[in-house]
Amino acid sequence: MVLAAGGNASTRLLLLEQERNPGLFGGAGGPLGRFYMGHLSGQIADLVLEDRRLHDALDYHVDAHGSYVRRRLVPSDATQEAERLANVAFWPVVPPIANAAHRSGPLSAVFLALSLAPLGRRLIAEPVRLKHVGPPPYRRAAHLGNVLRDLPRTLGFAPAFLWRNQVARMRLPGFFLTNSARRYGLEYHSEQLPDPESRLTLAEARDGLGQRRLRIDLRFGEADATSVVRAHAALEAWLVRNRLARLDYYAADPGARAAAVLANARDGAHQVGTIRMATEPGQGVVDGRCRVFGTPGLHVVSTAVLPTSGQANPTLTAVQLGLRLADDLAAGHAQG
Ligand SMILES: Cc1cc2nc3c(=O)[nH]c(=O)nc-3n(C[C@H](O)[C@H](O)[C@H](O)COP(=O)(O)OP(=O)(O)OC[C@H]3O[C@@H](n4cnc5c(N)ncnc54)[C@H](O)[C@@H]3O)c2cc1C
Repeated sequence: MVLAAGGNASTRLLLLEQERNPGLFGGAGGPLGRFYMGHLSGQIADLVLEDRRLHDALDYHVDAHGSYVRRRLVPSDATQEAERLANVAFWPVVPPIANAAHRSGPLSAVFLALSLAPLGRRLIAEPVRLKHVGPPPYRRAAHLGNVLRDLPRTLGFAPAFLWRNQVARMRLPGFFLTNSARRYGLEYHSEQLPDPESRLTLAEARDGLGQRRLRIDLRFGEADATSVVRAHAALEAWLVRNRLARLDYYAADPGARAAAVLANARDGAHQVGTIRMATEPGQGVVDGRCRVFGTPGLHVVSTAVLPTSGQANPTLTAVQLGLRLADDLAAGHAQG
């Protein structure tokens, strides 16, 4: 049996089973449901790119395999060790589209499209759409004004974008728009450190089948935030030393930056850690081949088996683990 119901639902199914058989999966005080990690993401500074080559290199481009790719800025291994940084990546992003003060026709056109729910849902995932459009009321008149004032640029942008995003065989996987000031939000995407108290447990409330629902207690800590702040400082030092760019922090007071990172920290969409992989029972729920310790024949394929969250989005790793497990099971079957 391969449990592949998603990170949180798979954890819930195992917790329900553990409730009936408390000795399973490392026991009630064991690792199951603990170490819930997502990622820390957000912006605490603008990136102003002085070097045109670096600027141009940070946009989407098509690689030798015909796929869209985009560069991320990551610290070298040496910097990461010297500064004691969690894994982290940075990249430039457009200003928040919902705020019409950006005065950009193309950005307002994107806002208007996303703010119409039936259309926006066809373009991007609903949680991502809601994050970008923000809460109503929507200031559509101000955005329409931007589109009209900036009509030539909007008309030049919209057909090409829709073609690349909706029609072309290889679809553009995101949205980025360069500007002549070369000023962008500096998005960070950082590892969240494993904390046993950041966890999933069973709630008293029950679903329509009478099964207990999941209670989510995702906790980001001070160490997560200070690592992100130190990573900004290391990046800034490197950019300035090489005359590539500068950072404009939103908070002038350096002491306020870790709090800003924690205020941004809401990203539990990558469900990592709650069915963690380990070499020994007690340390984790599955072994290195996704087999559940002490329960022969039960396997889990999910990002929840990853014992650390890294900086990168996790799904390809889960897919890879699933493919490897399929090979293992097929080989076992062939051997009878
Ligand atoms: C808003 C958002 C954006 C994301 N963006 C990215 C990204 O850009 N890159 C990336 O790598 N990852 C991203 N992720 C994470 C990605 O979605 C997950 O890592 C991935 O979907 C996990 O795949 P999965 O098959 O393990 O689980 P899921 O995709 O969750 O699939 C589990 C399936 O099991 C079904 N199921 C649940 N319970 C039961 C049950 N009891 N019986 C039968 N079926 C059941 C569910 O309905 C679902 O279809 C994002 C997640 C979110 C929420």
